[in-house]
Amino acid sequence: MVREQLQARGISDPAVLQAMSIVPRHLFVQEALRVQAYEDTPLPIGYGQTISQPYIVALMSQLLEVEHGMRVLEIGTGSGYQAAVLAAMGCTVFTVERMRELYQNTAVLLQQLGLRGIHMQRRDGTLGMPEAAPFDRIIVTAGGPEIPNPLVQQLETGGILLIPVGEKPRKQRLIRIRKEATGIHSEDLGPVIFVDLVGDHGW
Ligand code: SAH
Repeated sequence: MVREQLQARGISDPAVLQAMSIVPRHLFVQEALRVQAYEDTPLPIGYGQTISQPYIVALMSQLLEVEHGMRVLEIGTGSGYQAAVLAAMGCTVFTVERMRELYQNTAVLLQQLGLRGIHMQRRDGTLGMPEAAPFDRIIVTAGGPEIPNPLVQQLETGGILLIPVGEKPRKQRLIRIRKEATGIHSEDLGPVIFVDLVGDHGW
């Protein structure tokens, strides 16, 4: 997976490649789908949600430009795989999920795996996690119609926010925001497809 799907397609951040070679992706998908866990495809995780294909997880992790020890907020815990990759890269991860069942299943899994440095909450992530702010990095793994203002507010100066944004569900552009002392800088990194971001500042 790492060589053929990630390095061959331009993922070069050693910390991303290392993390994705050690996090056991098959444990984050349903048992019946385990044989497909390392294939280049998104997979259903139940409740209408999906775990992104390995390349997208790697790309987002690389675009986030994380450094060891950073505090990262993730919106959309889902299976917990992206959170586990960021934790394996040395980040302290705060991750939020709105769906009760996914939250519960993933909380059990992360505990069983004994992954340290991941704090999970069940809530509407479009409101962020003000009590733990500010964050060095924020990653949103679901797509909404706008950039939620609370997330921009909870970003540290010098921080990066990565979020799929689109006028229609399941058709977004990946946007990277840099919050500088001089203002907000935004980059469009191309088309992506994510499940819906549902909430106060989502669909
Ligand atoms: N990062 C996940 C991908 C999960 S798919 C992984 O590695 O598996 C997106 C997830 O975002 C879904 O689980 C969905 O329920 C969740 N979600 C959607 N809107 C949300 C919101 N407002 N707050 C928190 N989670 C949300």
